[in-house]
Amino acid sequence: MEKRQQIYEGKAKKVYATDDSRFVIVSYKDDATALDGLKKGTIAGKGAINNRMSNFLMRLLEKHGVPTHFVDELNDRETVVKKVSIVPLEVIIRNVSAGSFAKRFGVEEGIVFESPTIEFSYKNDELHDPLMNSYHAIALKVATREEIEYIKELAFKVNEVLKEYFLSLDVRLIDFKLEFGKLEDGTIVLADEISPDTCRFWDAVTNEKLDKDRFRRDMGGVEDAYKEMMHRVLGE
Ligand code: UDP
Repeated sequence: MEKRQQIYEGKAKKVYATDDSRFVIVSYKDDATALDGLKKGTIAGKGAINNRMSNFLMRLLEKHGVPTHFVDELNDRETVVKKVSIVPLEVIIRNVSAGSFAKRFGVEEGIVFESPTIEFSYKNDELHDPLMNSYHAIALKVATREEIEYIKELAFKVNEVLKEYFLSLDVRLIDFKLEFGKLEDGTIVLADEISPDTCRFWDAVTNEKLDKDRFRRDMGGVEDAYKEMMHRVLGE
């Protein structure tokens, strides 16, 4: 497959057209942003780690029956994925209180929920990704009722698969964000990435943070945390 012109540049990835209109190539950057874009920086080696870890997890999910955009890893930073139109919802699953949930409800981090929670944010930088419930999404034609139901079902399935997998690596999956995309024929698949940028990972023994919170909160040891997650997932 031939890489053609760049069609999009986001905060952490670039997207290129290819000679086949069904596919695009994503290229992961080391750039990191947080706090609604206010905090900017780079995390050395992050692009390669996120690319490879996300591809590994997408393959694992495919094995468990979750359809994804993943097609082929080209190199450390670049992957062929199916071209989708992104459903403009950030789908957030939580197993344990943390981050904006803890803040919004005035509770400490670390409360283990009996059942996972789900919430949506409307992907819109100008509006700062406001919370959106399923009725809002349907009213604004962001997705149909059936699409939302299917997205929820897939998101909880992803949680079950990943929670168990990470626990086997002595990692607690606290919460994470997913994005879904629609293929030309309307099929919904898991898209974007699953990485320490988009998940909260706590060491199962020490509760040490092994994710982007170290960057968001200026805790130091950011690169080492990403490398540690890479090591546990890919053994290198
Ligand atoms: N998250 C993300 N992108 C966003 C917002 C959140 O990947 O734009 C992830 C984040 O890494 C965490 C989960 O979604 O694993 C829940 O994030 P939260 O709502 O607590 O927001 P934050 O505290 O990160 O602002």
